[in-house]
Amino acid sequence: MSSPSDPVPVTPECPRCSAPVARLASDAVVEPRGATHACPEHGATRALRRAPEVSYDGFARHLLATADAFPTLLPWPLSPGWRVTDFASVGGADAPTAATLTSVAGSSQLDGPVDLTVVVEEPGTGLGARCAGLGHTDPWRGLGAHAPLVRVRVGRSSVPLWPVSTAALDGDLDRSVVAGEAGGRWLWLVVRPASAILLLRDDWILRDVSGVGPPLVELPFGGPGPRW
Ligand SMILES: [Zn+2]
Repeated sequence: MSSPSDPVPVTPECPRCSAPVARLASDAVVEPRGATHACPEHGATRALRRAPEVSYDGFARHLLATADAFPTLLPWPLSPGWRVTDFASVGGADAPTAATLTSVAGSSQLDGPVDLTVVVEEPGTGLGARCAGLGHTDPWRGLGAHAPLVRVRVGRSSVPLWPVSTAALDGDLDRSVVAGEAGGRWLWLVVRPASAILLLRDDWILRDVSGVGPPLVELPFGGPGPRW
């Protein structure tokens, strides 16, 4: 018998596509290390688990599952009227965390409704590229070739972020993508609509909320999340 506080079962899927993934035998020796599942197309991987419910309780469970010193970043403080619309992790429950994702939504005077998705991931995971709509897993194209577009604060670090071209996407100009490296992991920001990238200012703060605790109860959760 389930109760309202029981977590809703989540179907694990591939971080790089939306295919359901099958669990590998526990004694299977696979590359990359830490892989627990297999995608029919992308092979061995850790499993992506999306938020079954975008709520404080669901977010608390997400933070508990990814508490192995892996950050979950949110714009901080969240502007009035903005809310958390999605979150997910790769690994976490049954393997070291390889990625976390959060999405927030609100509106700006110039752009109307705005979605921002933040992905932190180990190189090669491919979740940020999936959110960006790119075929390759890492954002190396264009990174560091020019001056960064923006810097955001993550903890005590000022992290430079470069634009990642989405020009190869078929007429899909609905988003802007910036990426950089923070603490040895890729940091991706995907913003819709594309023009809303101008909202990112150099004093933007992304806070690791994995250790924040009770103040998170104040955050508004819910509403439609972005497509990814
Ligand atoms: Zn896949």
